[in-house]
Amino acid sequence: MLPLQLLNEMKMKLTFLGTGTSQGVPIIGCNCEVCESNNPKDKRLRTSAFLEVDNNCLLIDPGPDLRQQLLRQKITHIDAILVTHEHKDHLGGLDDIRPINFLMNKPMNLYGLKRVMKIIEKDYDYAFKTFKYPGVPNLILNPVFEEPFFINSTQITPISVKHLALPILGYRIYDFAYITDASFISDKEKRKLQNLDLLVLNALRIKEHYSHFNLAQALQLIEELAPARAYLTHISHELGNHETVSTQLPENVFLGYDGLEIQI
Ligand SMILES: [Zn+2]
Ligand SMILES: [Zn+2]
Repeated sequence: MLPLQLLNEMKMKLTFLGTGTSQGVPIIGCNCEVCESNNPKDKRLRTSAFLEVDNNCLLIDPGPDLRQQLLRQKITHIDAILVTHEHKDHLGGLDDIRPINFLMNKPMNLYGLKRVMKIIEKDYDYAFKTFKYPGVPNLILNPVFEEPFFINSTQITPISVKHLALPILGYRIYDFAYITDASFISDKEKRKLQNLDLLVLNALRIKEHYSHFNLAQALQLIEELAPARAYLTHISHELGNHETVSTQLPENVFLGYDGLEIQI
């Protein structure tokens, strides 16, 4: 038996499935230093993460690289999917949830904003027809609101952030929070992000961007929220290469990279 304290310390494991911005890194046809880097940490699939908590396996965003990500991490069990927003770099791999449907022999529950659930119903209309073609994804859409909700015994707190003008969701689970594609967070939502052990936050590049935090904005927010540690994700080739940027960050801030696993 493990001591209780150790059990508590091991209660969650996060795996970064992808840490790249919408085009991924390398970008098709780009000859920049980052896109041509041989460091595996500079190869970034589209942003997605996998959280093991309380015997739940939660996928955050079924991005367009989902198939490759599940194969690489040997993931064969997903209990539910948390969706941050409808953009295809976060949702475009949803059809690849089918093998998980078949393996687990049950429908997949998705959680996200009502608007996002409606878009899934429209974009994947074949999955919601009364008479379905055999083998289509088997999905249950669960709209979430501002209030915390439960997946089995795990409480999930939605964090409403802005992606330019679009309201999208981040999620807090115990002392972990995951926020991607944000360019603004209100003081009210910031209060839900206090006392974090781990914050995952988007940081696109050095230069400012209209709909994503750049590195300076992300670091400023991390300083304000003061999590024990923070990892950056949704990274563009314009941020610089992993090795160089990593040496320039505060001591509790790190660059995420694909395949990285963190105990929380
Ligand atoms: Zn995105
Ligand atoms: Zn490039």
